[in-house]
Amino acid sequence: MKTPNKKIESYFSSNGIVSGKLGLSKDEIKDSFLEKTFYGLGRIPALATQNDFYTAMAFAIRDRVLRQFVRSTQQFNEKDARGVAYLSAEYLPGPHLGNNLLSLEIIKETREALAEVNLDLDEILDQEVEPGLGNGGLGRLASCYMDAMATLGIPSIAYGIRYEFGIFKQEIRDGWQEESTDKWLHYGNPWEIVRPEIAYEVHFGGKTESGIDEKGNYSVAWNADTVIKGVAYDTPILGYKSNGIIMRLWKAEAIESFDFSIYNSGDYYKAVEKKMRSENLTKVLYPNDENLQGKELRLKQQYFFVCCSLKDTIRLHLLQGRKLDQLHDKFTIQLNDTHPSIAVAELMRLLVDEHKMEWEKAWHVTRHTFAYTNHTLLPEALEKWSIDLFGRLLPRHLEIIYEINSRFLNELRELQYSANKIARMSLIEESGEPSIRMAHLATVGSFKVNGVSALHSRLLKEQVLNDFAELWPDKFTNVTNGISHRRFLVVSNPALSDLISEKIGRDWLTDLYKLKGLEAFAEDEDFQKKWMDIKLENKKALSKHIEEYAGVKIDPTMMFDVQVKRIHEYKRQHLKVLHILSLYRRIKKGEGERISPTAFIFAGKAAPGYFMAKRIIKLISSVADLVNKDPDVNGKLKVVFIPNFNVKLAQRIYPASDLSEQISMAGKEASGTGNMKFALNGALTVGTLDGANVEIRDEVGKENFFLFGLTTEEVQQTRQDGYRPSEYYEQNKELQGILDMLISGELSNGDTELFKPIFENLLQQDPYLLLKDYQSYIDCQEEIHEAWRKPKEWARMSILNVANMGKFSSDRSIQDYVEKIWNLQPIKAD
Ligand SMILES: *Cc1c(COP(=O)(O)O)cnc(C)c1O
Repeated sequence: MKTPNKKIESYFSSNGIVSGKLGLSKDEIKDSFLEKTFYGLGRIPALATQNDFYTAMAFAIRDRVLRQFVRSTQQFNEKDARGVAYLSAEYLPGPHLGNNLLSLEIIKETREALAEVNLDLDEILDQEVEPGLGNGGLGRLASCYMDAMATLGIPSIAYGIRYEFGIFKQEIRDGWQEESTDKWLHYGNPWEIVRPEIAYEVHFGGKTESGIDEKGNYSVAWNADTVIKGVAYDTPILGYKSNGIIMRLWKAEAIESFDFSIYNSGDYYKAVEKKMRSENLTKVLYPNDENLQGKELRLKQQYFFVCCSLKDTIRLHLLQGRKLDQLHDKFTIQLNDTHPSIAVAELMRLLVDEHKMEWEKAWHVTRHTFAYTNHTLLPEALEKWSIDLFGRLLPRHLEIIYEINSRFLNELRELQYSANKIARMSLIEESGEPSIRMAHLATVGSFKVNGVSALHSRLLKEQVLNDFAELWPDKFTNVTNGISHRRFLVVSNPALSDLISEKIGRDWLTDLYKLKGLEAFAEDEDFQKKWMDIKLENKKALSKHIEEYAGVKIDPTMMFDVQVKRIHEYKRQHLKVLHILSLYRRIKKGEGERISPTAFIFAGKAAPGYFMAKRIIKLISSVADLVNKDPDVNGKLKVVFIPNFNVKLAQRIYPASDLSEQISMAGKEASGTGNMKFALNGALTVGTLDGANVEIRDEVGKENFFLFGLTTEEVQQTRQDGYRPSEYYEQNKELQGILDMLISGELSNGDTELFKPIFENLLQQDPYLLLKDYQSYIDCQEEIHEAWRKPKEWARMSILNVANMGKFSSDRSIQDYVEKIWNLQPIKAD
């Protein structure tokens, strides 16, 4: 077999292929684009569709992206750099094309190249179907982190699952959410490259057998009854003007195309059926956000991607000629929530069973390799797997977890911990159905555990993982979430970005703290006017989208008061509804003169099995019907629910918002990142002291933030004192009138049952204290409506918000991970 000589190496050298075919000028882009259209896709101009043009452009740009990516991978390898394997069951990257054009700094050139053939870049960009491989904030965070890791030159690889059907598509019919499958791969995916040679076997089920091996050592064999293959699909993620990293997603395949024994026996269909069953594993993303559903297929997905990712990480490590007992010197494996936390047991299995490392050594490597990011305090979201299910699917891992636990509990006994405390800390929950506590497994198996905002990290230490934080205080740290300001400001709000750059230059693209320079212009009336004119243009564009997709006409000069995020009771979309109804009732009573004309804009998906969340969507739609059609309201209020919230829609909404609703009950939202995206685009925030709201308020100044509601401590106190929501209903006549509307039938064509579940939930339990926070929220909104009537004041506050968003770039978050957890040297490509 021949091996390539030096000539092929020189092809990658700094100027090898910069010019000519992969150049970045308008003409070179145009040439590539036309070449891809005709010879890549085989289309004649007369028959090419918009989607063909998009695909051709994506291929033309992908070549340039890959060039950058190949060069940075080469450099990572040459330097044998310490790196990160980022494990996340979800990613929500959003459309790739626009972001890649920015990273290559060729937006203008591409726009001109297309204009020369009478095509419009924005229309082409709009063709892209986004990969909906996540539910919401968690997946989006992972994607913002990929952007920052690539930009900062972190040698890294992001592992996940290539779901064939991502998060469902949401339609609103008769006010109800309806779900349909997201066929994101229908037109093909020009950004991914399949790597059939990078594939691993994953085992399930069967039994274990212990014995003595040839060398006389105790060893365990796992005789599984099912084997599936994971195949790598790579998508290059380019950083801004720099390196690229890969997102490597695993797709499940049958181990052989056909099961030969069955095939030979003549049962062809049975053989094919077996193949299809294997491939089901990565068919669909579970559409639950912040809620565990202990489904077998979900556990299979988690183990499947973890197994492939760890085997791949070990392969890359050994490729460098390193020893396996140095794995932790070479890699940190970052666990994005507990979804990949089975990795702790799997790495032990790989080291001990497959690579014959002794237990103590393997445990040392393991607990110095993993770091765990906790994303939630919600009890219903803390992953637990029943021992029964777990043992059936992963019998060897159950044994390993028992062994880890038994050693861990022995350590606790030596520390004279009480039986109670030991039971609390155990990896196994014994009360009720015995189950494995994945957050405990991740905590015990990691060298660092971080929360995602200052408040959340504190609560994590004081509450959910309190015992562990007392045992290992140095293990716990905070990394406040961040967002890609390049995607969520530069790409999605180009006019505002240009205005900012006109004033302070472009350094802020790589150092968001530079936005501070805008403070000097906060009072400049000419600048304020330009600032608000851009907002108005963005609002006009959003209004057009709303008219087309939600059928509601909105006057763009109204205040855009926006709540977009997953629908969840803790996020309190229904508190927003109570506010709208309060305004409606005031107008009906002729007391609406102090209300500023406002459009209330909602969007977000509800988990298909989440009864209350779906009913809240119906409630919003019903309130929209009532308010929008009432002549007495006379266009002073509009309410709209925009269907199918995703990254693409998010990129339209944040730049067009005046007011950002971040109104979760304090102590429930771990961080939030929507709050950051709004403020970065000049929306003012109305919010509670929850998650990263606290830090946003600290940064922008309390006079530029609308605060209301109970603090976390007051929430706890309320609970302790015995909260009776009905008292608020009895005492607050306005609130009573609003709540009665829910069961009066006036929102539901006389149906008094439709919203009774919401009414009763609020009156009887009100688990998220809407009634307790109601008055504070209403009072705060009055302040907001007054502030809106002073446009210069509003513009000044908006500018000051943006000027102080430096901290919330995902570049800063990743820098924090590097310093506090990863301990590595970034490598910048030349
Ligand atoms: C930012 C974002 C989220 C998270 O929003 P929160 O307000 O932090 O809950 C969810 N979905 C999409 C599409 C996003 O862009």
